[in-house]
Amino acid sequence: MTPLLDVRHLHVEFRTRDGIAKAVNGVDYTVGAGETLAVLGESGSGKSVTAQAVMGILDTPPGFVTKGEILFQGRDLLTMGAEERRKVRGAKMAMIFQDALSALNPVISVGAQLSEMFRVHQGLSRKDAKAKAIGLMERVRIPAARERAGDYPHQFSGGMRQRIMIAMALSLEPELIIADEPTTALDVTVQAQVMDLLAELQREYNMGLILITHDLGVVADVADHIAVMYAGRIVEKAPVHEIYKRPAHPYTKGLLESIPRLDQKGRELYAIKGLPPNLLHIPPGCAFHPRCPIAQAVCRTDVPPLYEVTERDGTPLPGRGSACHFWKETIHG
Ligand code: SF4
Ligand code: MG
Repeated sequence: MTPLLDVRHLHVEFRTRDGIAKAVNGVDYTVGAGETLAVLGESGSGKSVTAQAVMGILDTPPGFVTKGEILFQGRDLLTMGAEERRKVRGAKMAMIFQDALSALNPVISVGAQLSEMFRVHQGLSRKDAKAKAIGLMERVRIPAARERAGDYPHQFSGGMRQRIMIAMALSLEPELIIADEPTTALDVTVQAQVMDLLAELQREYNMGLILITHDLGVVADVADHIAVMYAGRIVEKAPVHEIYKRPAHPYTKGLLESIPRLDQKGRELYAIKGLPPNLLHIPPGCAFHPRCPIAQAVCRTDVPPLYEVTERDGTPLPGRGSACHFWKETIHG
């Protein structure tokens, strides 16, 4: 079956004053209808840039796709005509950002912003559009939605604003939603509520969802698959429940050991040493080698491909891959 979204061997570069930054260096991932893919990585790993390429918001230089395909329902967004591409992206995809306050219009009430979507895109009357807007505000559980429809974005709390962004994204019933750090700015309790709401709506609407995050802790309950990015590449991919139990890449292992756990209060958190690489000068071989606790000579010269990960006896582990020369040692010890 054709996946909803199929990103193939994507490369994205940025022209900067100091040279060319290689932000995305051969990313492959797929998302099916009704499926959630979590894309995990530190800032600068290429997770947002990949999503921006999918959404078509890189089009203005300095960022541009240099290689690859972005197939949406089997058709390459990168080669279709501009008008058609705009249509697909406008009606079938939506994005949720970290900062709702800058994504929403500050001088238009939230009810009017939502109504506008229905008036412009579905040609509804003012009255019908307003009723639909209020219905959607209720659906994302804004208390007293009818009374609050006339309020402006700044009059809502951070969590409520994020719900309004989700409502905006859902308004046209897209088939794919990309959420870039949707809960990062919120406190932990609110984070969980917003994440649960997003997961619930994703199931209800049977949408594909890409959840971009730097926090492994927030995706465990909502994602089906996970792709871990480093220096513009996917370094590990796996069904989500498996990665927590048995990571197959030293970077993922480090990330997991950095999650605070309630049952291990007082334990010192392992933080991965060093900094993510400068994208103008990505280290040769495995880009993670300067920070990797088990790096060997081969790591400094040979780029690891995404190896298929198996059990010790060679039994395949479907959907798993690791871009580490020593994935066996990492997963099987
Ligand atoms: Fe570490 Fe080498 Fe594996 Fe890279 S390839 S993660 S440097 S062991
Ligand atoms: Mg980002």
